[in-house]
Amino acid sequence: MTLMHETEVIIIGGGATGAGVLRDLSLRGIRAVLLEKGDITSGTTGRNHGLLHSGARYAVKDIESARECISENRILKKIAGHCIEETGGLFITLPEDDRQYHEQLLSRCLETGIDAVEIPVSEALKKEPGLNPEIVSAIKVPDGIIDPFRLTSANILDAKEHGAKVFTYMEVCGIFSSSGKTTGVKALSGDGSVHEFHGNIIVNAAGIWGQRICLMAGSELKMLPSKGSMLIVDYRINNTVINRCRKPSDADIMVPGDTVSILGTTSMEIPYDEIDSPFPENIEIDMLLREGERMVPNLSKTRALRAYSGVRPLLAPEDSSDGRNITRGITLIDHKSRDGIDGLVTIAGGKLMTYRLMAEMTSDLVSEKLGKKTSCRTHSLPLPGSEKVTGNIRKFYRDISNSVVGSTMYRHGKRIFNILKNDRKNFRLICECEMVTEGEIEYALNNLDVTTLIDLRRRTRIGMGPCQGELCSYRAAALFNEYGKASPHESTAMLKDFLEERWKGIKPVLWGDSLRESELTYWIYTSLFGLDELPLNDTEREEK
Ligand SMILES: Cc1cc2nc3c(=O)[nH]c(=O)nc-3n(C[C@H](O)[C@H](O)[C@H](O)COP(=O)(O)OP(=O)(O)OC[C@H]3O[C@@H](n4cnc5c(N)ncnc54)[C@H](O)[C@@H]3O)c2cc1C
Repeated sequence: MTLMHETEVIIIGGGATGAGVLRDLSLRGIRAVLLEKGDITSGTTGRNHGLLHSGARYAVKDIESARECISENRILKKIAGHCIEETGGLFITLPEDDRQYHEQLLSRCLETGIDAVEIPVSEALKKEPGLNPEIVSAIKVPDGIIDPFRLTSANILDAKEHGAKVFTYMEVCGIFSSSGKTTGVKALSGDGSVHEFHGNIIVNAAGIWGQRICLMAGSELKMLPSKGSMLIVDYRINNTVINRCRKPSDADIMVPGDTVSILGTTSMEIPYDEIDSPFPENIEIDMLLREGERMVPNLSKTRALRAYSGVRPLLAPEDSSDGRNITRGITLIDHKSRDGIDGLVTIAGGKLMTYRLMAEMTSDLVSEKLGKKTSCRTHSLPLPGSEKVTGNIRKFYRDISNSVVGSTMYRHGKRIFNILKNDRKNFRLICECEMVTEGEIEYALNNLDVTTLIDLRRRTRIGMGPCQGELCSYRAAALFNEYGKASPHESTAMLKDFLEERWKGIKPVLWGDSLRESELTYWIYTSLFGLDELPLNDTEREEK
């Protein structure tokens, strides 16, 4: 049996771009559904550094992208405050770097309207004591950090509160057309059911997978998959974003993020059929560590927590073979004017932090195609959680520790009142590394489209801290059962998948303390809990 759904707009892709389009359309009163083949943010949105660009990284080579960045940087600070930390950024020059690049960067930033100021080396070292003392110059820029998981989730939440629908684990596998117009999509759900969604417009927001979606509609879109790998270390060794002041190259940025620091990145062209499972190579890890130590020598004393890769959703121009030389600019395609296919719109390129602008451009086009007069409001309406908080939050939570109130507030902003309650069970800690409470998990299970333990990690950060889930994952798995979201066997299977998934990221950095910690995790789960022996479903239980 096929399940049928009717709407006005079908959005394919649950990354920041798709979520942004869903929110923008919903705020305009346009009915929309979002279909995501995995979990929200399981694509490139969950695989980057989370840099809130000031635009300085692009100012010398790609002034248009730099302008988009600084403009969105200012808007996002207003509407997405609870997803952002205004850390500021530094561009540092080392003795071996071309000093001319420093001058070029300063003058192009001024031209672009980016507030870049040269500061004395002594001031830079005072601000960031871990910096290499050999640096010869430093420029301060308004870089920041943005949490991609929280940002996307807040967009989805707001869209749903304005009537939108979201289907995760729903893979689009075909596009219906009639007389040169697309009319809907066929999709397969993770539970095996078949669905048809019918609507006037299809928005292809599938990032690097956009090429495949276009193919389903008979259109050609050539992407140039450029893989970038990143390394996470076990505590926050820098508090500002540190950029190497040179032509964009490998291992030239270190971004603080919540409790850790992220070192990036590389740029490697990969075949299109490898986009589903990008993996960091040893050579990339070695190079990240070697070059990273030039910026922050202390790096060698930290424990590498994990490594991961993402694929930049870049559109291939005719004449380039290097992902770094291609514009990070935004491409919006109306397939009616490009290929004579009415009803299909593709939004591609751009960056995480330009998602809102990409969504505004797409929604303007969709609105026009639907013959509706609407206007965008996302530049001024705060996301759920980012509304202004007045008064002292602490006074509502006298029995709860400052660190729990602080971290819940940090992650959920004003929505803290929907989550944290003066009830011991609610504020009990499940993940000590990231200070995640049972109340936060209950809220995520009920409100944030969580299906698995891995999804829960993306919504709450459980398992993202120094122990990588060693001490919290079994407690969190049990809560799926306690709150009626999974049977005991399903919870056990989720726990196993979660540990396997964590393991994938730990494997490339398996030496020293990481190796010791992994051994401990292995022995806890296999020897102490006997996870390998536990039945994962009823049939297995009967067999055992
Ligand atoms: C190494 C690296 C570092 C980066 N660093 C930064 C940074 O610091 N700051 C910044 O602003 N940007 C950064 N970026 C860029 C940024 O991550 C991306 O531009 C952005 O996340 C793209 O979001 P998206 O929603 O367009 O795509 P995605 O997040 O990839 O979303 C597309 C979604 O479509 C889904 N999908 C695909 N096919 C189907 C289908 N058939 N049916 C249903 N769903 C489907 C996928 O599962 C996926 O979730 C970085 C990128 C890389 C690779």
